[in-house]
Amino acid sequence: MRDPFGRTITYLRISVTDRCNLRCRYCMPDECAELLPRERLLSYEEITDVARAAADLGFNKVRLTGGEPLVRSGIVDLVKMLSGIGGIDDLSMTTNGVLLEAYAAPLAEAGLGRVNISLDTVNPERYRELTFGGDLSRVLAGIRAAMQVGFNPIKLNCVVEKSSDETDAREVAAYALREGLEVRFIRNMNLEQGEFWVVQGGIGGNCELCNRLRLSSDGLVRPCLFSDVGFSVRELGARQAIIRAIDAKPESGEQCRTTTFRRIGG
Ligand code: SF4
Repeated sequence: MRDPFGRTITYLRISVTDRCNLRCRYCMPDECAELLPRERLLSYEEITDVARAAADLGFNKVRLTGGEPLVRSGIVDLVKMLSGIGGIDDLSMTTNGVLLEAYAAPLAEAGLGRVNISLDTVNPERYRELTFGGDLSRVLAGIRAAMQVGFNPIKLNCVVEKSSDETDAREVAAYALREGLEVRFIRNMNLEQGEFWVVQGGIGGNCELCNRLRLSSDGLVRPCLFSDVGFSVRELGARQAIIRAIDAKPESGEQCRTTTFRRIGG
């Protein structure tokens, strides 16, 4: 479907949970962050209904995000349900990689095609510091498992303060080059301030080329990351919520004051 600015919208990003097993400083600094009550999270059947309605409206690309999607139990079953939808020919996931070593093979078997893995540094001390205690060796083991099962491509999402010239970013780039992986640099965004930049190595943040909607973990179809507008799939039904969201897409992002990255999935 086309939005009011002539852009063809074919990509749905789905946040399956606002929970995470890390506390990245720029996303979930506060260890007692307010989490959604479980009954507010969409069930896998509801998520699949939204993806099916999106496919009927010409969407072909679905990405699972969070919080951290692998912390939600039964995630492999959801991948199986989504990979069975006709028209969705690009099913991917963004993960922090901490649990990926165990999940890579069952996810690939269930129909997942590719993964983006968040990696802001390859320095174990820095990693522990940035993620409030995360273990880098588990992520590196997850990346190896993703390579072994043949996810393609495997992209690293590296958040930078200002530029890919920062030490951590250069070291992640060198690691990616050694391992034959792609890397994208994402400048640290601020929802409330409406601060965002085009992803280096991707099209995220390039409003002219925007092709996406987001389904938040609490069941709102959002036309734009930097907007407070959202349409409830539980109130309107999946198809109507998607159509209303496409019709409400802004020409470009402004700011978002009503939710958080971990509920929208970045
Ligand atoms: S800010 Fe909004 S319009 Fe711009 S690329 Fe992101 S989602 Fe699309």
